[in-house]
Amino acid sequence: MPDNLFYLPEPVAIPVEGVSSTYSVGRIFCVGRNYAAHAAEMGNEIDREAPFYFTKSAPNAVLSGATVPYPPGTDNFHYEMELAVAIGKSVFRAGSSEALSAVYAYGCALDMTRRDLQIRERNKQRPWDLGKDLENGTVFAPLTRAADWTPDDDKRIHLSVNGETRQDATLEEMIWKIDEIICHLSGFYHLRPGDLILTGTPAGVGPVQAGDVLEGGIDGLQPISLTLAR
Ligand code: MN
Repeated sequence: MPDNLFYLPEPVAIPVEGVSSTYSVGRIFCVGRNYAAHAAEMGNEIDREAPFYFTKSAPNAVLSGATVPYPPGTDNFHYEMELAVAIGKSVFRAGSSEALSAVYAYGCALDMTRRDLQIRERNKQRPWDLGKDLENGTVFAPLTRAADWTPDDDKRIHLSVNGETRQDATLEEMIWKIDEIICHLSGFYHLRPGDLILTGTPAGVGPVQAGDVLEGGIDGLQPISLTLAR
């Protein structure tokens, strides 16, 4: 057996509340413009015909509690607080009755974004990768099993920077609900364990600076935090 020339790092392993095993980060799918007020603040119309997606690379993910550098190439680094859905079984072309049964767990996530690059590329009708898929750019809090938590409409999703609230909404504001997203996305991918879906961010996104501390939460889930190094 030949040796590999080099070895890639192990996947990021997210703790799961009350479980000794961890959840390995595989693919990361993100829903765009899933809260109307956020789409409006970004100057976009809502497309109610179908959700759309971008992806972020698994090696760029970090766990809640990390301290990370301010990223290169941006002067407008933004937070986006989101509900993450962790897939627990293989599903393809899911029907609405089976969609939620594919969910293993839920958790808080941050979709960190080089907003200046995202908007520049968007305006040139180019892909968003430079804006979205940055090193240390996706943050995951410990997961809570779907058996122990449900994404009810009245659950609050919120984020503060240095103790000051910046995002504050409820899951009721999501345009595409979790079962609808899984039905739609599984028409394009064979979803499988390790797949995580970030379900969009509410209004109130904004910039952060070196030294800032971000703290987010969703009612009933483990909180999330991220510190930008000075
Ligand atoms: Mn997002």
